[in-house]
Amino acid sequence: MSLRVYALQERISVGQGALIRFPENRRYFTNFISSAGFLIVTRERALFQTDSRYIEAAQAAVPAGIEVRETRGTLEADTLRELGIQKLSIEASHTTIAALRSLEKICAGIEIDSGDFLDTAVGDLRAVKSRDEVEKIVRAQRIAERALEKTLAMIRPGVTEREIALSLDFNMLSTGAEALSFETIAVSGENSSKPHGVPGDRQVCAGDFITMDFGAVVDGYHSDMTRTVAVGSVTPEQRKVYDTVLAAQEAMLDGLRAGITCAQADALARDVIEQAGYGAYFRHSAGHGVGLEIHEPPFEGPRSQEMLRAGNIVTAEPGIYLPGRFGVRIEDMAYLTEQGIENLTQAPKELLVL
Ligand code: ZN
Ligand code: ZN
Repeated sequence: MSLRVYALQERISVGQGALIRFPENRRYFTNFISSAGFLIVTRERALFQTDSRYIEAAQAAVPAGIEVRETRGTLEADTLRELGIQKLSIEASHTTIAALRSLEKICAGIEIDSGDFLDTAVGDLRAVKSRDEVEKIVRAQRIAERALEKTLAMIRPGVTEREIALSLDFNMLSTGAEALSFETIAVSGENSSKPHGVPGDRQVCAGDFITMDFGAVVDGYHSDMTRTVAVGSVTPEQRKVYDTVLAAQEAMLDGLRAGITCAQADALARDVIEQAGYGAYFRHSAGHGVGLEIHEPPFEGPRSQEMLRAGNIVTAEPGIYLPGRFGVRIEDMAYLTEQGIENLTQAPKELLVL
């Protein structure tokens, strides 16, 4: 039996079934990528059902111990009865109301658990990475770093944000990234005050900050990094903001460890920014987990009491954004071990004035 399925089975009680349909969760448990199919896990059994388009490939890819069976595409009540399921737990955060209604019709007489049991159970498992998963994320991260190096060489006054984003994208996709982690952010000058601004036709000018947030995907696993660089020169205020964000980010990396809460992790960075008087200008969470999804648990927000654990890969990404003027964000990914952290990001962070 796949170790991942076994770990889920340990959380499932007799008579309970878990229905896994969300693509990243399916992939996590079955090693199989498809646009259709679902996995049903009970305490004793695991059954993956998919349609005729995928059945042959699924039989070859799905680990031993998970039974593979062809279906016409929908879950059937007979299957649930065969597996002895009296209560079916679903992925509430990935289930539409329409999908829930159709499940209710299929599951006449079977209780549907649409609470957070399954999301939490799968989120907890996925949040603790194996060495193999760490290696994939590191490979993605190295691709992103090389793309950044190539891109820094082309940044000069007159280049547009869109050209910078395209350079990052081209260099990631042409050196082994199977996809981009998300739509690359490259924002300059006053646009850099928008944490998730969209690259446009604005031309870079001397005196600008340029914030680039981007990542590559390798074997389904994402990387995530942000660097802010300056062009021409910086004012003392720009340097102060940059130094504050960098100090906050390094304080967070220094203090991150298994056993603190997400809120404590967030505070490591936030306290530094607040003490420098910029608290009102840091209005997003300090970080998030990264893996098969670009944003996944644990989420390092100021109100989360969730505990960080060894095996987590989380970002540290404080920022300061002065509306209409400029912004700075610096983001690395950290792998939490029993001993401390490994910073998976190697790109330099001292202020670079191009
Ligand atoms: Zn990012
Ligand atoms: Zn991020």
